[in-house]
Amino acid sequence: MKQKKVLTKPQMEIKMKYKVNIGLEVHVELLTESKLFCGCSTEFGAPPNTHVCPVCLGLPGVLPVINKKAVDYTILTALALNCEISRLCRFARKNYYYPDLPKNYQISQYDEPLARDGWLEIETDGGSKKIGIERIHLEEDAGKLIHGEQMPNSDDEDKEASFVDYNRSGIPLMEIVTRPDISSPEEAYSYLTTLKKILQYLRVSDCNMEEGSLRCDVNVSVCREGEEMGTKTELKNMNSFKEIREALSVEIERQSRLLDRGEKIVQETRLWDPKRRKTVPMRSKEEAHDYRYFPEPDLLPLEIDEEWKRRLRAEIPELPKERCRRFIEEYGLPPYDAGVLTNSRDLADYFEECVKRYPHPKTVSNWIMGEFLRLLKRTDKSIDEVKVKPEDIAELLGQIEKGVISGKLAKDVFEKMFETGKGAKTIIEEEKLNQITDEASLEKVVEEAMRESPQAIEDFKKGKKKALGFLVGQVMKKTRGRANPALVNKLLKEKLGS
Ligand SMILES: [Zn+2]
Repeated sequence: MKQKKVLTKPQMEIKMKYKVNIGLEVHVELLTESKLFCGCSTEFGAPPNTHVCPVCLGLPGVLPVINKKAVDYTILTALALNCEISRLCRFARKNYYYPDLPKNYQISQYDEPLARDGWLEIETDGGSKKIGIERIHLEEDAGKLIHGEQMPNSDDEDKEASFVDYNRSGIPLMEIVTRPDISSPEEAYSYLTTLKKILQYLRVSDCNMEEGSLRCDVNVSVCREGEEMGTKTELKNMNSFKEIREALSVEIERQSRLLDRGEKIVQETRLWDPKRRKTVPMRSKEEAHDYRYFPEPDLLPLEIDEEWKRRLRAEIPELPKERCRRFIEEYGLPPYDAGVLTNSRDLADYFEECVKRYPHPKTVSNWIMGEFLRLLKRTDKSIDEVKVKPEDIAELLGQIEKGVISGKLAKDVFEKMFETGKGAKTIIEEEKLNQITDEASLEKVVEEAMRESPQAIEDFKKGKKKALGFLVGQVMKKTRGRANPALVNKLLKEKLGS
């Protein structure tokens, strides 16, 4: 589960000489059906500019209406991340001009975020560590610019142009900002994977990075041990957690080299260039006051009372860490199994449903971690799309336990169950796969195998024990793996007179 990453020599030197402070800003698209201030659909992948209306196009005279579900999801997340929820908070206009922002301002939150002062516990090489959450706020997403060269089948004229799609404009976006408590790229990686898992357990976002449902900006600074904090740079354009980890390593090394040479670090935004594996300057960082935030006059302040919080607190499910611990204690599973099975809420639910029907946790765990996940991956399916239900797994395992089929054959049966959705018993019957345990019919096959292999019999009589294995193999072949191996052994030994 936890991979120990060996540091290179220069990385080791840096680690000993410098202190690293990393802060992460994670933007999460919430899984609401409609946008934050209008009724337009949030569905991903629709033709450009089909999920739009006067509100999210920013036409004059329209008024925003807040989506309560989005507020619920943000409070839910904030509670799970141990934050203080503001009793009263306001939205603010963040003013800037950009083609993907038709109103020329974004409705966001500034000095009155919905929640603040929380923490998330992560696992590091040195044990558990709490990462401070500075604030969580709610805002609307902007539209999306598509530049000509990124367009499929674009002609020369298109290549010169840029296009805008406002389907994303107004989708609820939750921003989770940490304190600069993270002190290595590995910790940043651990924070992100832990956070993602929790968001998925809460079902507030699908966290699909390819579709942009989860995006992350990174602040990083380096200073000598004993100093307060260095000058930070911001990194953008990383598309996966692994890339964030790598970009951070590269940037930490760059800053350390500058300090080694006695040079100064410039506060700026830098872009990660994945092809050249380096960070390049993008722009000097704008300050918050450049945006001229002011309270949004079209929305009332949000008032969150105790009752609202209580209702949502009751909706928080058992979170991954607690569930993993319970799987170890309640089912006696090895920590590795418990970790894999609680990786997603759906998988953990599926496992528990199976165990309810077939109460042998380790056997169930082996099947789910082995065959089930293998086929899931191969067919690129999610758990709710799978035709095999927990009761089907229980039935299959029962058939193995009763000796109706061997564990080896069961794998073939399982593949067919996965493809067709038929039950184990049905497939075993249809394909006549049940084990032959009837002595009389097996005896005939054994005799046939012996007749065809006089050499093996001779070898056996000369003392070559291996020859017995060969004969067993022949019988298994003739019965397509259906013969009961113990019975075959017994019959062969009898007939060979040993
Ligand atoms: Zn709209």
